[in-house]
Amino acid sequence: MIRIPDVKNKSIGVYGLGVSGIVAAEALVASGANVFTWDENKDARNKTRGSEYLAEHPKQWPWDELSAVVVSPGVPLTHPKPHAIVRKARSTNVPVYGDTELFARAVNAMPENARPKIVAITGSNGKTTTTALIGKILVDAGEDAHVGGNIGEAVLSLPPPEKDSIYVLELSSFQLDLTFSLRANVAILLNISPDHIERHGTMDGYLAAKTRIFHNQQVDDIAIVGTDDEMLENVATKMRISHPAKFAPISVGSTLGEGAFVLDGQLFHNLEGKTLTAGDISNFSGLRGQHNHQNVAAAMAASVFLGVSPAIAMRAAEKFEALPNRMETVAKIGKVLFVNDSKATNASAAARALSAFKDVFWIAGGKPKDGGVSSLTNDLKNVRSAYLIGEAASDFEQQLRNAAHCILCETLDVAVARAYEDALNSDAEDPVVLLSPACASYDQFKNFSERGAAFRRLADQLPRQNGEAA
Ligand code: ADP
Repeated sequence: MIRIPDVKNKSIGVYGLGVSGIVAAEALVASGANVFTWDENKDARNKTRGSEYLAEHPKQWPWDELSAVVVSPGVPLTHPKPHAIVRKARSTNVPVYGDTELFARAVNAMPENARPKIVAITGSNGKTTTTALIGKILVDAGEDAHVGGNIGEAVLSLPPPEKDSIYVLELSSFQLDLTFSLRANVAILLNISPDHIERHGTMDGYLAAKTRIFHNQQVDDIAIVGTDDEMLENVATKMRISHPAKFAPISVGSTLGEGAFVLDGQLFHNLEGKTLTAGDISNFSGLRGQHNHQNVAAAMAASVFLGVSPAIAMRAAEKFEALPNRMETVAKIGKVLFVNDSKATNASAAARALSAFKDVFWIAGGKPKDGGVSSLTNDLKNVRSAYLIGEAASDFEQQLRNAAHCILCETLDVAVARAYEDALNSDAEDPVVLLSPACASYDQFKNFSERGAAFRRLADQLPRQNGEAA
């Protein structure tokens, strides 16, 4: 666990007792703070029983003594409206921040020559994959690397910072909004597409949160930016002129004179003035599809910058196993491959998945996001049929019907059975039943991983051909 500087005998509130909130409360107590906690959920509050940070309603907190409130990333700061805890803190001049800020302060308190390196990754899609991939590359290269943040391991639960260690942190826009003094030696902004606008108010607000990842960078650092998005191309143009850190664009499909890029499955990097080829990444089974090529390019740029040999990075990427729910192959029955991309909760993530296979029997739907799937009408050339489920089904049918053959299925079990039958009976050589919903899962499932688990289970239960094993 990481100790927090300058909090001894100070009073600090922790609002939100999920995994990262509990770890923050523990780290603060261990660092000598008086900690006041609360969560709207009773079960979460019960987790504080018997601890030194027993939950107590914020009305009882000693507001005139508080030096900060650490809030969980789920707490709205501005939109749809500031949460009551945020309003209270603002009205009493108590600063509000998140656990990543506490981590940043722990690192900033270290002497300059003893600081670990920090790699921070954000983007609308691909954060977790890129974070895990960079972690694997660094570990394979023999580095003392720790992976945490939004990926599920609370940053403050990682081992204390040491001189030669490297922290690889996935940061969401919500976490970045609560982080002020983090200096990322390597900061990566992979891509941007509309998501979480309800929390950031506008696309510009969302972009502003994402670009906070570059704040505090210095000349010895590197900023890696996916320039295939128009919005990020504009960010890149400005950064080239005024950002202090080294600038490294990444692209899939364009040749670049700097950074890293992928052309026809070949990965190139150019961080030191000449373009070198790293090799073919098109058959890396855990990193299928163009979207994953973007993630590999970012990971390669980061690794080369950190002194890892490109050959080691390539070997690690080749061996990398797809994370659950992200283009994860879950079964092959006869000629039909089942791919679970349940984490594709927005249209842009689903678009990438659809382009990764030739004959797709696509399962989509759930709780729709703003804009639905109308942006996908040009991405459907590989889609044989779309099997639509959940709250979004009939809207999606309206949006897609001129571009794809749509079948309303309501539930995932019906969709899997229909898609499988159609795939099996089709003339496609390598048909893929792909769950890439372009929607949140909350209408029918607890979360995306439960949706993915249901897909896996349903695929497992399908009748096998000729005694094939499940
Ligand atoms: P995040 O952590 O940003 O949600 P993940 O790595 O968990 O990203 O992937 C989420 C979804 O986005 C998956 O469905 C995956 O197939 C898709 N995806 C992964 N990388 C990218 C990318 N670079 N661009 C677009 N979509 C991506």
